Amino acid sequence: MDLTQMYQNLGISQKVQSYCSQMEAQLKERFAEVDATAEYNQMKVLQAMQESRVSDIHFAATTGYGYNDLGRDTLEEVYAKAFHAESALVRPQLTCGTHALHVALSGNLRPGDELLSPVGKPYDTLEEVIGIRDSAGSLKEYGVTYRQVDLLEDGSFDYENIRKAINEKTKLVTIQRSKGYQTRPTLSVERIGELIAFVKSIKPDVICMVDNCYGEFVERIEPTDVGADMAVGSLIKNPGGGLAPIGGYIVGRKDCIDRASYRLSAPGLGKEVGASLGTNQSFYQGFFLAPTVVAGALKGAIFAANIYEKLGFAVVPDSTESRHDIIQAVTFGTPEGVIAFCQGIQAAAPVDSFVAPEPWDMPGYDAPVIMAAGAFVQGSSIELSADGPIKPPYAVYFQGGLTWYHAKLGIMYSLQKLVDAGLAALPE
Ligand SMILES: *Cc1c(COP(=O)(O)O)cnc(C)c1O
Repeated sequence: MDLTQMYQNLGISQKVQSYCSQMEAQLKERFAEVDATAEYNQMKVLQAMQESRVSDIHFAATTGYGYNDLGRDTLEEVYAKAFHAESALVRPQLTCGTHALHVALSGNLRPGDELLSPVGKPYDTLEEVIGIRDSAGSLKEYGVTYRQVDLLEDGSFDYENIRKAINEKTKLVTIQRSKGYQTRPTLSVERIGELIAFVKSIKPDVICMVDNCYGEFVERIEPTDVGADMAVGSLIKNPGGGLAPIGGYIVGRKDCIDRASYRLSAPGLGKEVGASLGTNQSFYQGFFLAPTVVAGALKGAIFAANIYEKLGFAVVPDSTESRHDIIQAVTFGTPEGVIAFCQGIQAAAPVDSFVAPEPWDMPGYDAPVIMAAGAFVQGSSIELSADGPIKPPYAVYFQGGLTWYHAKLGIMYSLQKLVDAGLAALPE
């Protein structure tokens, strides 16, 4: 049986296949660049593991308090080295990205301090953490005020208003690398560095934190290479490599990480407690695989941008732009388009391919959200997944893929669903 027949057995028509193959053939150079970055980052991770003398004893599980958990402490050393940072907190007790961000923020802010986002509205779930939307336990309830400066129309930083917004209360500046559920451009690490330099030129002792979700290993440098005091992310996204079953990380300056650790466990206990419960091996192995997994996901994102842009849909980033995270936004303009796309991604999955996702009211979001994920780790979005809030402009956010071939099938399947529903037309 040839490959065309294999794809046909999986539900992809010859027409969709031939359109997608033409597209893939044009992407050889882009894919070679992605592979070169993966190679560089693989060496970075290997060097960190070798310098930390990672050994099989580090994979042993601890229980109870977790004092002297050698595997956990060495893993944190590996993360610190790979991110060129002083210290790291990498824990299964950090339950998700939002939690890691909350711990980093609330550990480092005190009543009377002000938090500033100079890059517009942060990720939806942080609205409740900060208190932009009133919520029990928010930073606002603890007397931390919040200020925001939006990006300018063309996506550039509004330096003038950022300068005005920084005042004697400004303690921490939060910079979100990825676009999240917005159609603004994702920030390159270089641009993040420029922004940090500007902020520090006005107020040198401000803590600059980067929400690094979905950005890890997309470039050769990370925010901690350009002056970030903390970078924060989720282990069921890029750095978990698809193997971490839970977890989050905070890397950066030692004093910032220590304060975060006192918030995560308790004042006086900090990093000393927190049993790893058998998660260590998957954390190490996932981090080791992460550069190549991210490369597969990036190829999928570039492939999707090219396919949908040429069919007349707005895509962010566009088909030729350089990449700074693994997310691809495609605007369909209708709820039906978003739903068909997500159902195609689901149908291509190794797990739960037989279910059809529907929009639902997810906690933390202000509109119904549809999520497609046929993942080995529930909710993992380094695995091929797509989601979109059912509200204008009806954009879908697509990311992940543990292998390029799976990402490719997912995108072909989504296109098949759109074509079948008459929501997209292939060129004759
Ligand atoms: C995913 C994400 C978060 C939150 O992470 P969860 O693990 O879903 O809580 C925060 N910021 C950005 C930019 C994200 O992409």
